[in-house]
Amino acid sequence: MSAAPQKTFYLETFGCQMNVHDSEKVIGTLVHEGYRQVQTVEEAGLVLYNTCSIRDKAEQKVFNRLSDYKKYQKQGKKFAVLGCVAQQEGEKIFDRAPYVSLVCGSASYKNLPQMLVQIEAGNQRVTGLDDRETEDCFETEFTARTNPHRGYITIIEGCDKFCAYCVVPFTRGKERSRTSDSVLAEARQMADLGCTEIQLLGQNVNSYKDPAGKPGGKKTFAELLTAVGEVPGIRRVRFTTSHPRDFGRDIIDAIDAVPTLCDHVHLPVQSGSDRVLNAMQRLYTREQYLERIAWMKSAKRQISITSDIIVGFPGETDEDFTETLSLLDEVGYDAVFTFKYSPRPNTPSLALDDAIPDQEKSSRLEVLMSHQKEIQITRYKKYIGETLEVMVEGKNEARRQWIGRTSHNKTLNFTAPDTSIPQVGSYVRVRATQSFPNSLLGELVI
Ligand code: SAM
Ligand code: SF4
Repeated sequence: MSAAPQKTFYLETFGCQMNVHDSEKVIGTLVHEGYRQVQTVEEAGLVLYNTCSIRDKAEQKVFNRLSDYKKYQKQGKKFAVLGCVAQQEGEKIFDRAPYVSLVCGSASYKNLPQMLVQIEAGNQRVTGLDDRETEDCFETEFTARTNPHRGYITIIEGCDKFCAYCVVPFTRGKERSRTSDSVLAEARQMADLGCTEIQLLGQNVNSYKDPAGKPGGKKTFAELLTAVGEVPGIRRVRFTTSHPRDFGRDIIDAIDAVPTLCDHVHLPVQSGSDRVLNAMQRLYTREQYLERIAWMKSAKRQISITSDIIVGFPGETDEDFTETLSLLDEVGYDAVFTFKYSPRPNTPSLALDDAIPDQEKSSRLEVLMSHQKEIQITRYKKYIGETLEVMVEGKNEARRQWIGRTSHNKTLNFTAPDTSIPQVGSYVRVRATQSFPNSLLGELVI
């Protein structure tokens, strides 16, 4: 007697680390519900897209992709749209792509098992769109982590900041934190399985609010960071993303006190001009931002600082843009992620005239990137001759180089003699011998 054919799924993910980690939880949930993950759409019975709508015409890209898969409809495959585009476009997705049978935003993932039952029962319009006001996080014990050495843990979901340009508060719902007990239990479990690096995730980790705990036992974000850093077996703890308004000095004190907390802070500034920051509703001034940078610069270890910047926000003048360039010099970032302003549905800035031509946005972006490249060339050069600890991430066979990552979150590739082959996931010491704008090259120290 042959076994019943197994239910199969294919999942594709776009977007930020939160989406990547959500997908790990979705995969774990599906596997627990008896599905098997496959590597191609052709092999799958259920095809899922975890989507991102942060910039550009993201929703259009999703519809284009879905129309590519119309041909599979006759084969009885089912389609699901998850994530931010699902939440943003809602039931309109069924109208434009009637072969989609599930549309689900991230705030509703906790209901996935019930929604899967409905799809299997033949329901062609299953939705998870009404949970943006939920107090609950998507907690599951079935997260399918593929990297055994490092992994993500969500500590806070949603966002209450409503920056003028951003869709996240509309797509991911209101801010809600997991209990510190639950986060720590997950960290211990990962450490028991041999994981040594943990990255705590949230749209705004600094506004973490421990919802439960014994009287006096609730943890602040800095206390949670410290506690995760003290879990036996954990050697590196990272966190992203921080919002300057909520970034407290106690985070730097924690980094000073706990050696496992990595010496890297990603603190998106978005603009160097107070006028633009105010229009963006970012809730801090350039001076307040620089105060946080000064805390970092006074830390015991040298902290690597990275940021996000948007160019071409409505009304950004040449003078405003020049202030952003001068901020790059003042801070001395180790990396900056740069974006052209993109008007997004529902956001307050949609009402502003997006008057800066795309060509001008592109040229500001180019100026910004080449300015930052010069800064990085100088900053990376300073590491030549230093010996740094890296986690070994893999090997570039073509170049015969090992790939390493420093606590600063820099890529430090290195050569090693055939007699000392490093293990992926291990920590080794490497002496930096050459620098590039985005990486370092070195030799294994034996
Ligand atoms: N919560 C984080 C924060 O506050 O910075 C990250 C949010 S978002 C996933 C990552 C980055 O995308 C933002 O920091 C911002 O620079 C950029 N971004 C968000 N909305 C944008 C838009 N409408 N146009 C261009 N860039 C945008
Ligand atoms: Fe978006 Fe601002 Fe929230 Fe970050 S803090 S997710 S940029 S609204």
